[in-house]
Amino acid sequence: MAVVKVDKLARSVAEGPSLMTGSIPTRNWMDVPAVFKPGNYAYPAKAEVIRYLDSQKGVSFPNAREWSPEDDDWKLPANWKEIILKGLADRLDRFRSLKIFMDCCVRCGACADKCHFFLGTGDPKNMPVLRAELLRSIYRQEFTRAGKILGRMAGGREMTAGVLKEWFMYAYQCTECRRCSVFCPYGIDTAEITMMLRELLHMVGVGINWAMEPVSNSNRTGNHMGLTPQAFKGNVEFLCDDIENLTGVRVNPTFNRKGAEVLFITPSADVFAEPGIFTCMGYLLLFEAIGLDYTWSTYASEGGNFGLFTSNEMMKKLNGKMYAEAKRLGVRWILGGECGHMWRVLHQYMDTMNGPADFLEVPRSPITGTVFDNAASTRMIHISEFTADLIKNNKIKLDKSRNAHVTATFHDSCNTSRAMGLLEEPRYILDHVVENWFEMPPNTIREQTFCCGSGTALNTDEIMELRMRSGLPRANAVRYVHDKHGVNTLGCVCAIDRATLTTLMNYWVPEVQVAGLSELVGNALVIDGEQRQDLTEGLRTLV
Ligand code: SF4
Ligand code: SF4
Repeated sequence: MAVVKVDKLARSVAEGPSLMTGSIPTRNWMDVPAVFKPGNYAYPAKAEVIRYLDSQKGVSFPNAREWSPEDDDWKLPANWKEIILKGLADRLDRFRSLKIFMDCCVRCGACADKCHFFLGTGDPKNMPVLRAELLRSIYRQEFTRAGKILGRMAGGREMTAGVLKEWFMYAYQCTECRRCSVFCPYGIDTAEITMMLRELLHMVGVGINWAMEPVSNSNRTGNHMGLTPQAFKGNVEFLCDDIENLTGVRVNPTFNRKGAEVLFITPSADVFAEPGIFTCMGYLLLFEAIGLDYTWSTYASEGGNFGLFTSNEMMKKLNGKMYAEAKRLGVRWILGGECGHMWRVLHQYMDTMNGPADFLEVPRSPITGTVFDNAASTRMIHISEFTADLIKNNKIKLDKSRNAHVTATFHDSCNTSRAMGLLEEPRYILDHVVENWFEMPPNTIREQTFCCGSGTALNTDEIMELRMRSGLPRANAVRYVHDKHGVNTLGCVCAIDRATLTTLMNYWVPEVQVAGLSELVGNALVIDGEQRQDLTEGLRTLV
């Protein structure tokens, strides 16, 4: 899908008729249908992918078929409406949060202009309050007395195929980033509403391939790309060769080794794609420098969990392999690599979904002795916590001048910042590995960080213009620090960010590259016996 040139898109975002530019809609939102055209929807899940997943124990993905959002007939089951309403009733019963979110919005509008999709598209239905209203209107009609009696006068409406299509459109124009919830006086989390919408849609066979194929691969082989154990191991070993070539240090990681102290799990993107592979080289160097007794797993070979963007049951199933593998290998605790949504699952859901992990110990750094009580229930800590603790205890030697080519800023991933409060550790690390780094404006960082615009499985090429629009608020803040301070590197701790922000920067701020924090750590690490080449671009130097 060709994307319009930057200057044209920038003009249309700033000047085109939209709610953002003062154009007032002339029709009630309920009367404006969703219109699908190439570029505004992600491709539906392939029939064979759905068929495979539906055959798996513990999950349900019915109605595998070929279909297109542009068709009038979506080939839904004959009783689709009944399925949806039953599904909603069941979820209102099971999830107290959903019931509260349906009831307590006062339509104050505080969330309205906080969503990057609204800021980038100007579409009123991308205001979080209205996104939630897409579901709330059905809830009112079917589950409240006022709605049953007064219908539209009470904000209710009938569940129709048009409503279902609207759900599909706007559930996939939300990256579940939760920025809106930070500003809501009632703490309404629109991301949770989007998650429910996606679950309900899956009950009638409506989902996108960019979510379902990685889910299917992950279920089958353990990782999103469907890498076999041999290929996974081979990729990591290629990176070890690169490290030796660059630094003279031979790294020899182990795989599936029983009795290792620590199991290390990271997103598979770190082992096969730039710029994630440089982050992975950073991990490998760090573990070598401190002599960590750890192992990789070729079964739990994916930290990411696209089940989160699909259904609670799918998320739980994919997450289960982490504890299962930790148990099989007999490790003491788990160390996790840089990822965003992986950490949302681990931090918020893993313990209740698949715990308690009593067979593991509360993580204790074998190098510093620090006990990470914050992970007392999950038994798993983030690489940034681990690294920051090493730095604080003077256990690694760092030379900032090795990052002389870097003037950085830091992008808080939505999930690590808002879902787990990982705010200080990455900044502490940056303070110690680069000479110069600058914060983006305060309303675009920390809890208020702007999403990359392509998370929750929206990192797909057919919706590129939508992604560039929704990523504009993030890119705009990077542009600001680039122009003001000469920032040329956007640091982050998320694998999806490393992929999506690279595309976003290429489009809006091409002077800026994207790097995982562990890459910057790896650049700066001084290791006994090393024989480094002149690495003018750190671990990504071509020699
Ligand atoms: S900020 Fe909260 S209460 Fe106000 S409109 Fe948005 S969701 Fe509703
Ligand atoms: S969760 Fe993020 S993408 Fe979704 S409505 Fe809220 S701000 Fe927008």
